[in-house]
Amino acid sequence: MIREGKNVTDNTLTIGFIGLGNMGSGMTKNLQQAGFPLIVTDIRPEAATELIDNGARWADTAAEVAAGSDVVITMLPTPRHVDSVVNGPTGILAGIRDGGTWIDMSTSVPDVAAAARRDHAHRDLHVLDAPVSGMSVGAAAGRLQIFVGGDADDVARLRPVLEAMGDPERILHVGGHGAGYAVKLMLNQLWFSHLVATAEVLAVGVKAGVDLEVLRTSIIASPANSNFVENDVLSVLDHGDYDEGFAIALACKDLGLSIDLARTVGVPVELSAVVEQVYRRAKAQYGDLAGEMTPVKLYEDLAGVSLRRVATPEGAR
Ligand code: NAD
Repeated sequence: MIREGKNVTDNTLTIGFIGLGNMGSGMTKNLQQAGFPLIVTDIRPEAATELIDNGARWADTAAEVAAGSDVVITMLPTPRHVDSVVNGPTGILAGIRDGGTWIDMSTSVPDVAAAARRDHAHRDLHVLDAPVSGMSVGAAAGRLQIFVGGDADDVARLRPVLEAMGDPERILHVGGHGAGYAVKLMLNQLWFSHLVATAEVLAVGVKAGVDLEVLRTSIIASPANSNFVENDVLSVLDHGDYDEGFAIALACKDLGLSIDLARTVGVPVELSAVVEQVYRRAKAQYGDLAGEMTPVKLYEDLAGVSLRRVATPEGAR
């Protein structure tokens, strides 16, 4: 199959970008490198220095960003931040022109975007939710996975913009408005659930006297295998790396939003609630900046075991 490279031909749109943090800084650099004119803002003006040096324009408010751009993108920590940037006299909705486009790429819930579409229905606004996976490394490399919710025509029209930030083969139109938020929250929830379940069984098995790698390879050979057991847990088992690139405080935020979403749609989620509590316990014990895999450490400390593989010669396992 012939794979087309990133589409950087439709770069005449001016992109407004709000939120130049761990993720937004890499995403804006890639938009700029793809040739899109940028107009940016952040509560930390210093975050825009390099972009401005390379030709981006600065705006003091979100309304000014929206007024000066064809497409406004938000990449903000929480729904509260998104709300504060979208609404009010200096917000996106105060500046965006009729028929304009806003893409929220934050990990969030649909409420703010739904209210914007409902309250401004007469203005023909185009709103997409497009949260991402891939960490700040993926943002810097322009290889994000992007889950897009919204109208198919908008997704097709904006694909060159998304492709400047993401892996073209992993930019998925997952459904109507809100579906992107939901997919992102559900995949995070499942990954965190895998992590807690895996930490629990490895700690118990090792405490019961089974060799860690024998236990792990037995699980891999069984119907209980998972990508987490096979791959992701190895950063802890091989390197003692609990992934500080994604702070546990943000992981707790995501888990809280996942439960909020379940509450909104009326589904009981006992398992998700327990996983969230384990994460909150790890956050309380090891601090907000501890890595997202720190719940594994919680079980290691509770059981009094160290979950580390002993290096063996290639092929000996
Ligand atoms: P961050 O805290 O590093 O960046 C957020 C940026 O928003 C900061 O620069 C902050 O100054 C700015 N900001 C906050 N309030 C603002 C306001 N009112 N006006 C203008 N700017 C404002 O967060 P991040 O790690 O870049 O994450 C952004 C979003 O992406 C979050 O929803 C997060 O859950 C999600 N996400 C993060 C990762 C990751 O690995 N960091 C991975 C996938 C998804």
